[in-house]
Amino acid sequence: MSWEANVRKVTPYVAGEQPKGQGVIKLNTNESPYPPAPGVARVLREYDAAMLRKYPDSETEPLRSELAAYYGVEREQVFVGVGSDDVLAMAFLTFFNHPSLPVLFPDITYSFYDVWAELFRIPYQVQALDEQFHIKEEDYRKPNGGVIIPNPNAPTGELAPVSMFERILRANPDVVVIVDEAYIDFGGESCLKLIDQYENLLVVRTFSKSRALAGIRIGYAFGSKKLIRYLQDAKYSFNSYTMNSITLTAGVEAVRDDSYFREITDKVIATRERSKKELAALGFSFTDSKSNFIFAAHEKYRAKELFDALRAHHIYVRHWDKPRIENYLRISIGTDAEMNTLFAFLKEYIGA
Ligand SMILES: *Cc1c(COP(=O)(O)O)cnc(C)c1O
Repeated sequence: MSWEANVRKVTPYVAGEQPKGQGVIKLNTNESPYPPAPGVARVLREYDAAMLRKYPDSETEPLRSELAAYYGVEREQVFVGVGSDDVLAMAFLTFFNHPSLPVLFPDITYSFYDVWAELFRIPYQVQALDEQFHIKEEDYRKPNGGVIIPNPNAPTGELAPVSMFERILRANPDVVVIVDEAYIDFGGESCLKLIDQYENLLVVRTFSKSRALAGIRIGYAFGSKKLIRYLQDAKYSFNSYTMNSITLTAGVEAVRDDSYFREITDKVIATRERSKKELAALGFSFTDSKSNFIFAAHEKYRAKELFDALRAHHIYVRHWDKPRIENYLRISIGTDAEMNTLFAFLKEYIGA
């Protein structure tokens, strides 16, 4: 028993279910319903396995330069990691180091933030969203050890304006402010334009949602050269070869195919807007999501009941048994056909 006293004990993040088998409609982890860019499949088909003999590029090339060129920044302003979860974990470790002041983030947000804070023993304090699930800007003006806010927020889908982040940045010159833009490609305005002006801003993105590559694990971040250098120093002190060479090559193809990227994000946005109308007609209310999911509550039916009924019909959505959001379902946007199956089931169940 005694050795257990010296173990770092953590309560891990719980991801959405990954049900196996055919005929499942999976609207529970915000994956893309479309395949990745065709160039990705070509790279995987043609990859020369003999290349795996060598270590991958420790500077995450060629993906880093491709991202820099696409987004019009310098390569020294880009960091690449194994999914944005890796980028965010590394950023928590690197930037949230105040011995006593807490890191601030919303009470309703990505449920990995408190897990990393606990893992790295970083003090934190959650800030309550208002009744409409909007961020209360003034909450981020108190003394703190860092700030992290997703935009759009998850699981609410609410988008905050860049001007709000600018004011938060101006109020917090002594700490790092992280904007987690996992869903920014679905119609939001990015804080990327602020990185030259605010040396302490880190903008984190992922290939998992808008680029349809959750399975390959690519995340990236933009910031000042100084900020990115600190992040790399921490990463190289942990594992300098986390990105494998197949992923680095495949990721480039996803970035290059801009027309495909626009096509699939536009389709998701169109289906999302249509889904809002369908859900409203069925008696749901929801936030004005600018992401690839809708966070909805029904006027009569409890979320848990609907969650169970849907699951029994092999339609998976996400539900959290947490204060303030226990009556909401987070429904990822699927294909039009998948959404129609969902609406048909709900229509029958609710009798609308
Ligand atoms: C999905 C998600 C991530 C993590 O994505 P990766 O698959 O690790 O790139 C990070 N932040 C938010 C808010 C997310 O929803």
